[in-house]
Amino acid sequence: MPSLAILQKTNLSELDDPRLFREFAYVDGAWTAGSGEGGIVVVDPASGSRIGTVPKLTADDAEKAIAAAHAAFSGWSLRPAEERRAILRNWHGLVLQAKDDLARLMVQEQGKPLSEARGEIDYAASFIDFYADEAVRLNVETVTSHLPDADMQVMRQPVGVAALVTPWNFPAAMLTRKAAAALAAGCTIVAHPSSETPFSALALAELAERAGFPSGVFNVLTGSAATVVGAMTKSPLVRALSFTGSTEIGRLLYEQSAPTIKRLIMELGGHAPFIAFADCDLDGAVDRAISAKFATSGQDCLAANRFYIERPIYERFVAAFAERVRAMTVGEGMTDPDIGPLINGRAVAKQQQHVTDALERGARLVTGGKIASAGPNFYEPTVLADVPADAAIFREETFGPVAAFAPFDDEAEVLRQANHTETGLVAYLHTSDPARIARFSRGLEFGMVAVNRTKITGAPVPFGGVKQAGLAREGSRHGMEAYTDLKYICRDLG
Ligand code: NAP
Repeated sequence: MPSLAILQKTNLSELDDPRLFREFAYVDGAWTAGSGEGGIVVVDPASGSRIGTVPKLTADDAEKAIAAAHAAFSGWSLRPAEERRAILRNWHGLVLQAKDDLARLMVQEQGKPLSEARGEIDYAASFIDFYADEAVRLNVETVTSHLPDADMQVMRQPVGVAALVTPWNFPAAMLTRKAAAALAAGCTIVAHPSSETPFSALALAELAERAGFPSGVFNVLTGSAATVVGAMTKSPLVRALSFTGSTEIGRLLYEQSAPTIKRLIMELGGHAPFIAFADCDLDGAVDRAISAKFATSGQDCLAANRFYIERPIYERFVAAFAERVRAMTVGEGMTDPDIGPLINGRAVAKQQQHVTDALERGARLVTGGKIASAGPNFYEPTVLADVPADAAIFREETFGPVAAFAPFDDEAEVLRQANHTETGLVAYLHTSDPARIARFSRGLEFGMVAVNRTKITGAPVPFGGVKQAGLAREGSRHGMEAYTDLKYICRDLG
């Protein structure tokens, strides 16, 4: 089987379950090459070698897939919620059973360190588990009538076909966070995974098929995003669109969705501030700063991009952080280093551009600052100190392993600097002063605030941003809202 030979060639040991590696799209319960010419070659970002090819579906193929999802909708949505829960539970169990293979596939196409890939599979599975149970809790409420002789009911109903568009940095978890919520609500889905990392989504589709999702309910469409996602946004049959990716593409899809008034969920870019006051636990804050910056090699929308440290601890903080960074390992994901490859050459160029720009504006290079010896897609974990506010790295998301520091003297000033962004996704605060925690919890213009810790996300809590960081929420019961409409029924009793 050529696909396995390729996996072996690129040093990935053979998958325990070879059928998880699929070089086809999954439409209406069948694996298909579509009708497009050629395919999209997927490469290992560590070595640049070819992993495999996925089909380039045409707009016509995408429309047929949407029609299949639409045809499957009434059967799926009318099934008793317990049956939807049972199938989601099957899927959850199969994903956990296949964890090693799914993690290896992810390392191969995404590059992230193996232990992070394994962690992502657990995280991905947790959304399926959570929403399996939520399927039976889509409540029906009754209302005490304000009208004479009337009986009132409010129910939530699934909207129909949901389009899911996912990025390459969390190729499994971003799919399950969307798909599990939509499927639990009773929607059917057409998903487009990033062409950089389609194989994780296709493996999840294989497991979904085994779990018992009926034909047409779960579809994964590979191909040029402009073509495939363009067909989704254009289609009046697609009622909801959930997108995770850059703000730029989010804006485009928002516009494309306007003519058909789609329900939108958008999880867009981040540009997180990390604020540490002199009264914080310095060692703990440094540990958390490392984790907030370097998870997924810095390619994380939650990655801390701007470190503001109160002046009395500034030099000590930067020195302790840099010491940890100098000890970091950089290498191919299967060797489980601290830092893996970046996704492609454009990502590497962006690191270099942000470093050069900061240095030209007077920043100090503490460590790193160049392409790593492991290969052209690897960038050294880097620390920049005394970064001026007008440097590019303080104005836009870096999405890589470069940490930028600046001192501050005043609480109001640092709050203003932290809020000086349109991408209000997450902010990190380190202080032991309860009154300050209360002031910042209110004052930080972000959808999520992490106080004296970094790991804050999970299936039961709402994930999302304010301002131009996005729309609506994923995770928690709120993550099902955009996949459902409220219906009010008033019956006359007269
Ligand atoms: P991206 O370029 O916006 O791509 C995201 C998705 O959109 C991919 O499936 C991509 O497909 C598709 N796409 C690209 N161009 C398109 C077009 N013209 N029409 C329709 N779809 C299109 O973003 P990315 O580079 O993959 O991801 C990085 C960004 O995502 C960062 O800004 C990061 O902060 C953000 N992100 C946010 C969250 C969150 O939850 N807030 C989580 C993770 C990432 P192709 O890859 O096939 O082009």
